[in-house]
Amino acid sequence: MKDKKIKAASPKIKDKVFKVKIADLLNETGRADQIHFDHKFSDQLPNLADAGMSWTFTIQSLDNSSLLGTLTDVSAIFNETCDSCGTSFLRSVKIPSYTVRFIFESDAAKEEKSESEEAVLFIDDKDETINIEDMVVQAILLNDPFVKRCDDCTKRLDETSDDDDDLGDFWSTGNINFS
Ligand SMILES: [Zn+2]
Repeated sequence: MKDKKIKAASPKIKDKVFKVKIADLLNETGRADQIHFDHKFSDQLPNLADAGMSWTFTIQSLDNSSLLGTLTDVSAIFNETCDSCGTSFLRSVKIPSYTVRFIFESDAAKEEKSESEEAVLFIDDKDETINIEDMVVQAILLNDPFVKRCDDCTKRLDETSDDDDDLGDFWSTGNINFS
């Protein structure tokens, strides 16, 4: 008999499963489920630190063809390089809440998705699941700071300049009109 060494369940194996079964929810309008996720990794976020990401996912059926998904308490830590001094540092991300509507894919749905201002993702109708990886990645990328600075640089720059308020006004200008 071959002596196969069985490694103890390795903490190095990264959990990248983001699928949630929704078949039961679609049959019962108004029903909601809540699932907690921990130590998750995505190939779309290569510089996630070893702890990965965690969040609570609440899914509620709106009718028999659409669902409302809400992420709460999203937490992640990234390995970053400071844009000011080049030092490696850990950047902690916390997102209180992010909501997406899930619908079945169809031509009408595709049109709705492209016109809609709210975030819309598709239900996989083959196995009646949703994959929330894109949702989590979107939530995190939407909160990505334009410039990434280590704590020391952030502190140093906060002390030397108060002009950053102007930038805040710039970003909060909500409506951009294309003519
Ligand atoms: Zn720095």
